[in-house]
Amino acid sequence: MQLYQENSKVKEVGMAIIVKLSNNCNLSCVYCGVAGPLVRERGLNAETIDFNQISSLFDKIANSEKLTSVDFIWHGGEPLLSGLPFFKKIMASQKEKLGNDKITIKNSIQTNGALINDEWAKFMKENAFQLGVSIDGSEELHNQQRKAVVGNSHAQVMRGMEILRRHAIPFGALAVVTKDSINFGAKELFDFFVRNEIYTFDFLPQEPIFDENDKQLTPNIYPSDEYVAFVNELFDIWYNYDDPKIHILLFEEIMRTILGRGSKICQIGHGICANTTFTFYPDGTIRPCDKFPRAFGGVNGEIITKINEIDNIESIFSLKNYKKLLLAQITSLSMCENCKWRDSCKGACTFDRYMYNRSTLQNDKECPTYKVYEHIYNKIKNQLC
Ligand code: SF4
Ligand code: SF4
Repeated sequence: MQLYQENSKVKEVGMAIIVKLSNNCNLSCVYCGVAGPLVRERGLNAETIDFNQISSLFDKIANSEKLTSVDFIWHGGEPLLSGLPFFKKIMASQKEKLGNDKITIKNSIQTNGALINDEWAKFMKENAFQLGVSIDGSEELHNQQRKAVVGNSHAQVMRGMEILRRHAIPFGALAVVTKDSINFGAKELFDFFVRNEIYTFDFLPQEPIFDENDKQLTPNIYPSDEYVAFVNELFDIWYNYDDPKIHILLFEEIMRTILGRGSKICQIGHGICANTTFTFYPDGTIRPCDKFPRAFGGVNGEIITKINEIDNIESIFSLKNYKKLLLAQITSLSMCENCKWRDSCKGACTFDRYMYNRSTLQNDKECPTYKVYEHIYNKIKNQLC
């Protein structure tokens, strides 16, 4: 997640809470572990959150004493499927319960963009939502992997972005990088965004899906060296293009950390996210970042607590399950002990670190993030002196 605030002082606590409004989706993306083909095939029930759960979450936040900021990341499935009236009710309740300036509140939505219309756009603008829109690149690539249940999902998301522009709402695009994206190439992805005047974008590797029946993660999606080559090529294209209006967040943050500055995103420069990032599910459970599939690897994706079992959100930090999670995250930093990029990178994304530990990594130099840091440093070092 890219929207969390870390504060190491005990008397001040910032949190990011990913709220899963629903596991429903109007798309069926090939790589999705929430509403994709694997999940549909298994016939798992789509859950939708009850308003009382959200109201209870706001109450437990309001009861906190040390909490200074909360970033709500409204998520799904597809969060807009909850409907505009439901969202309006959520915002009204948030203002009523948390609008007293004691806690700084930010709201963001990660959407597939297909359902955006003028009414949604007005609402998003009025409530100053930060917006992430998922789009994987060209029409051919996007429709191959982000399949609409009805119609052409690429046309739908392009129309949604056009409406956002008409309302002067800034947004960032987010692309999932699959084996097919790698085959299409970094240049094609970059050119697509620039050609369509999408100047702020980022990308994520496709994540493995946890198969609830087989109790295991889907096997290797693609060799990490292919992904690293793709990322490094994309960096070179962006760097050589040298246009300050084009932002690729991950690259900007890696460069900031190489220069010894802090990072705004969780994946770089923090190392531990158990203390800041939580996911709130429709069944009222609170768990770690949703990148950890729910049942993945023992405590890591499992329940920390249920909202009706705590008086205030800060009491999470004294729970046994929370401490186990924190310890597991700290222990997983051992692979980074001798890495030359440790002070900048600080262990990269926690979930990815678990993934590497589970594979056959022999040392830090085999870490994909290490290879990206090396590449970027070698590219920019002449300008650092
Ligand atoms: S698991 Fe990764 S994406 Fe999720 S909050 Fe932690 S660092 Fe961020
Ligand atoms: S081993 Fe990888 S994740 Fe760990 S600090 Fe080095 S580059 Fe970052």
